[in-house]
Amino acid sequence: MNFEWTDAQLELYEHALSFAKNLDCPAVASGEFPQQLWQALGDFGLFGLPVDSRYSPVGSGFDILTTVKIVEGLGQGCADTGILFAGAAHTFACVMPIYEHGSERLKTELLPALTQGQKIAANAISEAEAGSDIAKLATKATREGDYYIIRGAKSYVTNGAVADYFVTYATSNEKFGYLGQTAFVIPADLAGIEVGKSYKKLGLNSAQLNQVFFDDVKVHKDYVLGAEGQGARIFAASMDWERCCLFALFVGVMQRDLTRCIEFANTRKQGGKTISKFQAVAHRIADMEVRLQSARLLLYFAAWQKSQDVDNTKAVASSKLAISEAFVQSGIDAIRIHGAMGYLQESAVDSSIRDALGAVLFSGTSDIQRELICNRLGLL
Ligand SMILES: Cc1cc2nc3c(=O)[nH]c(=O)nc-3n(C[C@H](O)[C@H](O)[C@H](O)COP(=O)(O)OP(=O)(O)OC[C@H]3O[C@@H](n4cnc5c(N)ncnc54)[C@H](O)[C@@H]3O)c2cc1C
Repeated sequence: MNFEWTDAQLELYEHALSFAKNLDCPAVASGEFPQQLWQALGDFGLFGLPVDSRYSPVGSGFDILTTVKIVEGLGQGCADTGILFAGAAHTFACVMPIYEHGSERLKTELLPALTQGQKIAANAISEAEAGSDIAKLATKATREGDYYIIRGAKSYVTNGAVADYFVTYATSNEKFGYLGQTAFVIPADLAGIEVGKSYKKLGLNSAQLNQVFFDDVKVHKDYVLGAEGQGARIFAASMDWERCCLFALFVGVMQRDLTRCIEFANTRKQGGKTISKFQAVAHRIADMEVRLQSARLLLYFAAWQKSQDVDNTKAVASSKLAISEAFVQSGIDAIRIHGAMGYLQESAVDSSIRDALGAVLFSGTSDIQRELICNRLGLL
C-alpha cells in the first residue's frame, strides 16, 4: 500500500491551491451568479479535468485521483465554495455523463464550450414527489418520430437560472420501472422550458438553485445520452463522480477551517495564555483533525476504487457520508473555537456550517448513503 502522491500530482494540487487563493472573491457572496469567477474556473480547466483533450482545448484527461486532489486544492484555496459547488455540479453531474455516455456527435458539439466555461449545464432529476426515491419520475418522455416530447417539473436544479443545457431524466416507459428512464441533454432555449426564480438558501450563495418546468418540450432523439432506458444507470454513474469529486471540495474547505482554527487558538489569549493551552480547545481541534483525515482517506479510497473495475458503491457512499457529516461538525467546531466572532457573517467562519448543511442533503442524503452501505453489508 502506498499513501504517497506523485510529484506531478502534488504540483497540480499546489497550482490549484495558489490559483484559488488568488481568485477575487467577496468575503460574503451576494447570491448573484459571479460570471467572472465562473470564467476563471473555466480558464483554469476545472470543467475539463477528467475530459480527454480530443474533446476540449482545456481537457486534461486526468484520472479520478488526480482530479480529486486538484478539486481539494480549489476547495481549500477559494473562499467562495458556492461557485465551486456550481462548477463541480456542472462538471461531474453534466459534463461527465455527456463525456461517458454521449454520442460522438454530441461530445464534439457540446464539450468544447461546456469545458471552457462558455456554456453552463445543470443536472435536473429531483421532483416534488421524487427526492431520495427517484425510481419513479413523473416527468415523461413520449416518443414521436425522431423526437421525444418531455413534460414535467424538476424541483431543485443547481445552475438552473444560468443553464444553457439541462442534463435531465424522464420516464420513457412506465412498465419497465428503473429500466424505463432515459437521460437527455436538453438545450435550454427550446420552446416550452421555464425556469423559476433562484431560491434564497442557507449557504452556497453563489450557486443558483431553481425549479425547471418542461412543458411539451420537443427534443431530437440525438440528444439522448446512452440509449433509451439507460437513464438510471447513467445517473448512478454521474453520482459516483459527484460523490467523489465534488465532495473533495469540502475536504479542502475543512482543511482551511482547521488551519484557521489552529492559528486562532495559538494567538487568542484568555486567562493570560493562548486558548490552545486549554485542553478543551486543543482536544476539539484534535477531533477536527481526526474527522478530516478519516473523511479524506475514505475519499481517496473511494476514488481509487472507482478507478478499478470493482463495485465501489459502499466506498463511495461511506466517503460522501463521512465528508458531509464531518463538514457539519467541523463548521460547528470552528464557530465554538472562534467564540462570538465566529458567529458573525463578516468573519466568514460561519460560512462552512451553512454550506455543510446542504452537503448532507444533495447527491443523496446521509440517510440514503447509510441505506446504500447497509445494502452492501447484506442488511437490507
Ligand atoms: C443545495 C442543493 C442543491 C441541489 N441540487 C440539485 C441538482 O442540481 N439537481 C437535482 O436534481 N437535485 C438537486 N438537489 C436536490 C437533492 O438531490 C434532494 O434534496 C435530495 O435528493 C433529497 O430529496 P428531498 O429534498 O425531496 O428530501 P426527501 O427525499 O423527501 O427526504 C426527506 C427526509 O427523509 C429521509 N428519507 C427519505 N427517504 C428515505 C429512505 N428511503 N431511507 C431513509 N431516509 C429517507 C431523507 O434522508 C431526509 O432526511 C439539491 C438540493 C440542495 C439542498
